[in-house]
Amino acid sequence: MMVIDGSRGEGGGQIVRTALTLAMITATPVTIENVRAGRKKPGLLRQHLTALRAAQAVSGAEVIGDELGSRTVTFAPRAVRGGSYRFDIGSAGSAMLVLQTIVPALLFATGPAVVEIAGGTHNPLSPPYPFFEEAYLPLLRRMGAIASSELVRVGFHPAGGGLVRTAIEPCARLGELVLTARGAIRTTRVRALSSRVPPHVARREIDTLVHLLQWQDADARPEAVESEGPGNVLVATVEAENVTEVFSGFGERGVRAEDVAARLAREVRAWLDAGVPVGAHLADQLVLPMALGTGGAFRTVTPTEHLRTHADLLQRFTGRAVIVHDEGAGAYRVEVAGA
Ligand code: ATP
Repeated sequence: MMVIDGSRGEGGGQIVRTALTLAMITATPVTIENVRAGRKKPGLLRQHLTALRAAQAVSGAEVIGDELGSRTVTFAPRAVRGGSYRFDIGSAGSAMLVLQTIVPALLFATGPAVVEIAGGTHNPLSPPYPFFEEAYLPLLRRMGAIASSELVRVGFHPAGGGLVRTAIEPCARLGELVLTARGAIRTTRVRALSSRVPPHVARREIDTLVHLLQWQDADARPEAVESEGPGNVLVATVEAENVTEVFSGFGERGVRAEDVAARLAREVRAWLDAGVPVGAHLADQLVLPMALGTGGAFRTVTPTEHLRTHADLLQRFTGRAVIVHDEGAGAYRVEVAGA
């Protein structure tokens, strides 16, 4: 039984999700202690509990400690099986983070899977749906995965009520990914999605972002969406020759639309100025499938604590190293050893 100290690194939900994913893929029983010890409200929240139950369902695992607030979880997986699955978070917890937990494991399942997850699809501090569909999945496909996804209904925090459907085929082996140059930028797109938020908010977000990034040629427009509750997210998509990156910023009560756009513009600008293909979030989410496949390398912006968490756990579960080189001027090269 491998014992993981959940208080390490950022001491949040990532270490729990990644440990579950790697436990499933390597068929290793794990105990995770000090679950989310670094957070104000430690232990499993509904979103993490759904990820745990989803992992349990797809791998037939024996689980101890699958309760809200649980601070110790034991997870002993069996084989990961394909099939039709549906999970309901029962709150606006992120459906995308549940997918993040089980999609890599389903790539190595006994058969094809279709997974429906009800919950939040566009949540702050999580991969919003457009990032998953347009940035993450295409790179998995480039490694040889057969996976597609559909947004059935948008769910914003805090009401939730969204629905995502994802189909994954097992693949014998993931190929190498080398993503060191961004290539020329082909298109830039900005969408301000809103549900039950006054239309001027989306307009001001778009105008500010276009102005700050000098993206006058961007395909930019507000998009009213149907959702169970109110919500607003500003999404900037850059399609370059070798990669598509998706950046997002959420509207919040008490935060001006201009400030939401300015914060997002800073993130996009840092990525553009570093001249690298991979943004911070994509970086932390890519290392796991890369290490489980044939490895590779990419260039990115300043590595996050999440990337280090992934690197630590990959080393423990697979013995494969993730090495980060500082290239200067805000650019880093990440080398991932594979099978
Ligand atoms: P907690 O840390 O409170 O337990 P959590 O489990 O919800 O929270 P984190 O551990 O912070 O989440 O992990 C968030 C994950 O979401 C990371 O993989 C991160 O890369 C991803 N993420 C966060 N924001 C974005 C974004 N804007 N675009 C893409 N991915 C994102």
